[in-house]
Amino acid sequence: MKSQFDTELETRLVRYAAIDSQSDEHATKTPSTDIQFDMLRLLKSELEEIGAADVRISDYGAVLATIPATAAGPTIGFLAHVDTTPQFNATGVKPRVVRGYDGGDITYPDTNERVLSPGAFPYLSEKIGHDIVTASGTTLLGADDKAGVAIIMTAARHLLANLSVPHGPIRIAFTPDEEIGRGVAEALPGDLAVDFAYTLDAARVGEIEYESFSADAAEVTVTGVSIHPGNAKNKMVNAIHLAAKIVATLPQATMTPEVTDGRDGFIHATEMSGGSSEMKIKLILRDFELEGLEAKGRLLRQVCEAVAATEPRAAITCNIRPQYRNMRYWLEKDMTPVELARAACRAIGVEPVSIPIRGGTDGSLLTEKGVPTPNLFTGMQNIHGPLEWVSIGDMAVATELCLKLVELAAEKKA
Ligand SMILES: [Zn+2]
Repeated sequence: MKSQFDTELETRLVRYAAIDSQSDEHATKTPSTDIQFDMLRLLKSELEEIGAADVRISDYGAVLATIPATAAGPTIGFLAHVDTTPQFNATGVKPRVVRGYDGGDITYPDTNERVLSPGAFPYLSEKIGHDIVTASGTTLLGADDKAGVAIIMTAARHLLANLSVPHGPIRIAFTPDEEIGRGVAEALPGDLAVDFAYTLDAARVGEIEYESFSADAAEVTVTGVSIHPGNAKNKMVNAIHLAAKIVATLPQATMTPEVTDGRDGFIHATEMSGGSSEMKIKLILRDFELEGLEAKGRLLRQVCEAVAATEPRAAITCNIRPQYRNMRYWLEKDMTPVELARAACRAIGVEPVSIPIRGGTDGSLLTEKGVPTPNLFTGMQNIHGPLEWVSIGDMAVATELCLKLVELAAEKKA
């Protein structure tokens, strides 16, 4: 069944997805890539067109806007990120719509090496009759998080055109660089100025997430002894062999992303570079509990020390820095934003589910900085790869959720 929002959601998603706004973890500027401004400027002008107030692009590259209140109620923020992941080709995205999905395999116009099949992805088989948006086979789609952007824009346009819907002040933020963990600038919590907020960045219908990983990043530096190989006997210490030893000593069979799921954390080596005189290993450490995260840090240090002990002439350092923390630590103290989202979800006939996120969102950092920010579903599936897809029908349910949520919040306050 078509909702009143389907056409708008589809048009917006297709328009936004075609814009390359990939972030770049190796760039140091903010936003990390200039192309993100193509999305930011477009959204700024679209927000102005639909009549939003206080529309601006901040110096850290977020589009901020207000939907003025029509009733008393808490100030609620809605956030989505404009960047797409650097993990996969995001250049030349050609979104296309598979109308009235028939339940079979979905093939791609630009490659015959890939198939999106309901056998491999059972959630797809629940979407028979839906309009499904995919990329063309060689790029990601970028529904992560342009589905979120389209949902917020559609809900905002609806509220600004229907002033009879009661709601408190609503703040909107479209942020850059979420995919590289830099979406929450120091000034964002203050600029948002909300009682609480939601990111539209979760997946299947019903998902209301308030638990994320706690995350640290580590950099191990191995400094060897460099000397011409021709007269290196008993003198050279090759950093490559020591770095390889460190990686080989880490528990690959029990504590890596490829062998863990559910509530188990991991140590993930993401990058190794250098040469015989110096090597650098980058790793990320993840766990839902701080004690578990600390234990992983201790383990990594022990491995470095053990390898260092085998070669006193080498220098091995291990720097561990915090990235983000499980937002549950703060949200469980006041579940109001989560309970409100759950009530809104039930009110539109969807049973809410809360699954711990094996990752982080802008909400993890925002919550830590004092803005309670659970994560709401958008419908996005198979993100960060060529099989990414989203159902327009799912996006419409997410739009209804946002509208119901602001209405319920206003009723509660009144
Ligand atoms: Zn995302």
